[in-house]
Amino acid sequence: MQPLLELHGVSKAFGGLRAVDGLTASVRRGEVVGLVGPNGSGKTTALNLVTGNLTADSGAILFEGRPIERAAAHRITRAGIARTFQLVRVMPSLTLAENVAVGAMFGARACSPAEAQERALPLLARVGLAARAEERARSLTYIDQKRLELARALAAEPQLLLLDEWLAGLNPTELKEGIALIAALAADGLTIVMVEHVMDAIRALCSRCVVMNAGTKIAEGTPAEALSDPAVIKAYLGD
Ligand code: ADP
Repeated sequence: MQPLLELHGVSKAFGGLRAVDGLTASVRRGEVVGLVGPNGSGKTTALNLVTGNLTADSGAILFEGRPIERAAAHRITRAGIARTFQLVRVMPSLTLAENVAVGAMFGARACSPAEAQERALPLLARVGLAARAEERARSLTYIDQKRLELARALAAEPQLLLLDEWLAGLNPTELKEGIALIAALAADGLTIVMVEHVMDAIRALCSRCVVMNAGTKIAEGTPAEALSDPAVIKAYLGD
């Protein structure tokens, strides 16, 4: 079966720095794939290339077999890819419900503002924020902003959800809840790629792991296989 997402020899440089350097990887429908690697290995850049927040210098990116490497970010969202950001991006002066409704209106299944508001409530409930739907996003703690951002991404009704360190900074109880939430989304059939440093979460959630270092893929396999690969251990320990 054709992968949902394919990257073929994708590269992106910033000046002389090759942040992503000939990356080839694919994601099948229904998988939860962990994208891991030391800081600066190119993980966030890779996500930004998939979502159209950055444009690749070379290589091909296919979503459902169609090239998206030159497509604008909003078109990629419409095509069915949604994400959260490492540095959360919510709209502080809008209510939680409005924040999520915006995600619905610009997502894969466009809808009226009224329908978008309706779609927002169950999603806020799913991330544990239903009681606060009418509050402004600026009143939320960092962790709740992350929850809100996830609800907004889900409102776009994506086929592929990209999470950029969504579990970072959670306390042990929140982490447990966060892992359970991602597991529930995966059980619903959502395909997920997660950039994550919390290795327990990677082990709990991911069927497969892609490990990057210096812009390239250095290992791939089940979390147990990939994380015990000598090249991976060396990359994490440094030379
Ligand atoms: P990771 O997500 O694995 O920590 P990044 O993709 O954020 O890695 O960064 C990869 C490399 O590219 C790093 O050396 C980082 O400093 C550099 N980089 C990322 N974004 C930019 C940018 N917009 N301009 C210049 N350098 C960047």
